[in-house]
Amino acid sequence: MPRAEAREQSNDAQDQQPNLAAHNALKIHRRLSRQVFVGSVAVGGGADISVQSMTNTITEQKQACIKQILELEKAGADIVRVSCPNQQATEALAEIVRSVNVPIVADIHFHYKRAIEAAAAGAACLRINPGNIGSKERVREVVKAAKDYGCSIRIGVNAGSLERQLLEKYREPCPQAMLESALAQSRLLEDCDFINFKISVKASDVRLAIASYRLLAEKCDHPLHLGITEAGGLMAGSVKSAVGLGCLLLEGIGDTMRVSLSADPVEEVRVAFAMLQALKIRSRGVNIIACPSCARQQFDVIKVVQKAEQRLEHIREPITVSIIGCVVNGPGEARSSDVGVTGGGRGTHQIYVDGKGDHRFSGDNLVEHIVMLVEKKVKELKEIKELKELKKLKNETEKQTQ
Ligand code: SF4
Repeated sequence: MPRAEAREQSNDAQDQQPNLAAHNALKIHRRLSRQVFVGSVAVGGGADISVQSMTNTITEQKQACIKQILELEKAGADIVRVSCPNQQATEALAEIVRSVNVPIVADIHFHYKRAIEAAAAGAACLRINPGNIGSKERVREVVKAAKDYGCSIRIGVNAGSLERQLLEKYREPCPQAMLESALAQSRLLEDCDFINFKISVKASDVRLAIASYRLLAEKCDHPLHLGITEAGGLMAGSVKSAVGLGCLLLEGIGDTMRVSLSADPVEEVRVAFAMLQALKIRSRGVNIIACPSCARQQFDVIKVVQKAEQRLEHIREPITVSIIGCVVNGPGEARSSDVGVTGGGRGTHQIYVDGKGDHRFSGDNLVEHIVMLVEKKVKELKEIKELKELKKLKNETEKQTQ
């Protein structure tokens, strides 16, 4: 069976494989959560873990904001959050929402009126901290707007802005304080007969964030939005997020996620997908398996990998490519790849397709050869998918006419 077809098999089919114990040991058991919708994107209830990012343009500068959201969409973001710090921003929101395809979450702090305006402007979700919205009456008005306009809400608890009484009680941000804050804020919404919300308990301290999410996951069944807040720059922030979110995701905790980086927001999406891909939770684009290279390498592995990553950025279909410098690990890695290269002697490298040796390559431009093979494979995958969809449609039509 071609690898592309094999990959399309469901988890049920995997369960029928002989090494059940090994398969079960690798399985992630997702926490059961309710499902809410952020526009058309389902969050929780077993839905795919969605990837979020946030714009860092001035919201009133609509064209810049729209441009950035479109870039995030292209990178694979499922949901994008936009800050609404003032009325000009919520006024800009309507056009922004109309001009993009992903659902928009309006980020609101302190001013309940901004939340109401954002809901009316078409935000799919309101990120609020009910504790800083003001009186119960104001929270009630925000909830009414969310109900009227079909918005969900995210309760965003943050270790850096915990309520004063909780800091006095616990002296410092701690998992119990984060839990209490989240549950108290949940009650505020539930008292308004509103359960269409998800919760985050973010902290910049990775261990605090992990412990807080674990605690919250036990105590409620609301969908959870994961994040390590103020994680830092591209390198440090990615590592912190991968450690924190990776740990939670492996435990089945988390329904949607944002990697917060002091970097171009597009990087947040890239890093999020790399994390989901590493855990085999969700795939998008090319997954390159490459060796670190050493004196045995038969071509410049690092250079080829760097160039291939750039040249394959446009691929969205999940596909695995192995680029290995020599025969020590090359054939083994190629067996589980869609396209593989193993460095061979005298500049002649072995090329694998669908896990099997296909031909040898000794030309100058190994990168372009890999790109050509990957694009061919992607075309094949798309054709297989289309055929399957056609077959499914045909079966459904036949059933209806019987
Ligand atoms: S696969 Fe070969 S070239 Fe790559 S690191 Fe291992 S021994 Fe070195």
